[in-house]
Amino acid sequence: MITTKPVCVTGASGFIAAHIIRDLLDRGYSVRGTVRKSPQSYPFLLGLSGAKERLELVQADLLTAGAYDRIIEGCEYVMHTASPYEINVKNPQTDLVDPAVNGTETVLESCQKSGSVKRIIFTSSIAAITDEPNSMKVFTEKDWNTMSSLERHPYHYSKTLAERAAWDFVMRKRQNFDLVVINPFMVIGPSLSPSLNTTNRMIRDIMSGVYPGIMDINWGFVDVRDVAKAHLLAMETDTASGRYLCSAETLHMKGLVALLKSSGFSTYALPKVDLSGKAGTILMKVLSYTQPRDTGMYIRTNIGRTFRYDNAKILHELGISFMPIKDSLTETVKDMIRWGHLPQSR
Ligand code: NAP
Repeated sequence: MITTKPVCVTGASGFIAAHIIRDLLDRGYSVRGTVRKSPQSYPFLLGLSGAKERLELVQADLLTAGAYDRIIEGCEYVMHTASPYEINVKNPQTDLVDPAVNGTETVLESCQKSGSVKRIIFTSSIAAITDEPNSMKVFTEKDWNTMSSLERHPYHYSKTLAERAAWDFVMRKRQNFDLVVINPFMVIGPSLSPSLNTTNRMIRDIMSGVYPGIMDINWGFVDVRDVAKAHLLAMETDTASGRYLCSAETLHMKGLVALLKSSGFSTYALPKVDLSGKAGTILMKVLSYTQPRDTGMYIRTNIGRTFRYDNAKILHELGISFMPIKDSLTETVKDMIRWGHLPQSR
């Protein structure tokens, strides 16, 4: 344990944050988590082992100036995970960018005012690295997403602006704390809460007949328990610095569907038609215009391209080892069945 002071975790109710909190409590830390509703609304957090003695939930909203001042006061480490994670929103500026960017600035201001914070661990995303794969390029932490805007991949835009704001703040203000950033790819895995995370929902949709066929599309995946582990390592490793691209394995949609079939889920409405050839890609690009705006955009900028990235920095500097995605995927599906997001069988 590197601190006896409470570790502040913003967005405690979130899919990733709940796992971070569980790990922190398991390792003996005290936690001050921020939530938007009354603390009693989060029995899945209050029921964690050690929560009764060492978890405090405090209400705060990213859009309220100064909301985190009192909360962060006295903390040495802050994990800033809170940020809206949604793909199709009505108003990208107010629904995504404002809470992501203003919220980050608000939290960092509070860290600075506190005088006690030593390090902030910021949950960014692959979205801040790029919003489209490039088959000819291997992405690393040196890359920045320069393509997104309010019209093009607004979620990616919000994450890019928020991470930039965090780095700018640290450079500009020269305060006493440092910043370490985790950039996860698609995070899947069991959920501690009944809600269905946006990425797990994509797996649910693939199993529920939402996708017309198998597309030529691929993603990096990482298990939520490994993402939580990465946050703790970023806090506890004195030499941790900069950004950490956090992804275990890349899976093509074809491989994903095959894995689901071979893992005992073949009776679900998995896509059957193979549209991963050139003709299928053209067809899917046309059909993408029938999808919600941002889903359509995602298909058009990702289909027919191979996502390549290098995760060596996190492996070597934080010493993390990732669980196999096959296991993670199986547990994700079983967990969605347990929570009732998927039927027992079809
Ligand atoms: P999540 O379950 O939707 O959690 C988001 C959290 O942010 C929730 O606690 C939410 O609170 C909070 N939040 C949103 N708007 C807020 C506001 N205005 N004020 C205060 N809190 C607010 O998503 P997640 O997957 O755990 O994501 C956590 C972080 O990881 C995000 O920064 C996301 O961009 C990043 N990330 C996620 C993935 C992924 O695949 N899941 C991949 C890369 C990066 P409520 O519960 O009250 O809504």
